[in-house]
Amino acid sequence: MSCANCEACCCRLQVILIGERGIPDHLVEVDRWGGRSMARLEDGWCIALDRGTMKCRIYETRPKVCRDFAVGDYECLAERGLGTGDGRR
Ligand code: SF4
Ligand code: SF4
Repeated sequence: MSCANCEACCCRLQVILIGERGIPDHLVEVDRWGGRSMARLEDGWCIALDRGTMKCRIYETRPKVCRDFAVGDYECLAERGLGTGDGRR
């Protein structure tokens, strides 16, 4: 199990920001209730993902939700198995 042969499919899920302040504003989406999450492109991929390398462009300061998403855990396995999941994490 490796991210190298997965093409970062978890980076299509919604990433809710919980108090993070280090994410540049242009990468953040704010909903009508003031909730903050990583912005996504129309095709669902996180705006911070480098589409050439399929690597995170803000890896060192990526949100907690992303840091907690461990390769091989149940969420990762579900995402790889289902492909799209429910769009949240
Ligand atoms: S954590 Fe899992 S779902 Fe995400 S890129 Fe790595 S292998 Fe794919
Ligand atoms: S912030 Fe980085 S690790 Fe998190 S979903 Fe976006 S590209 Fe993936």
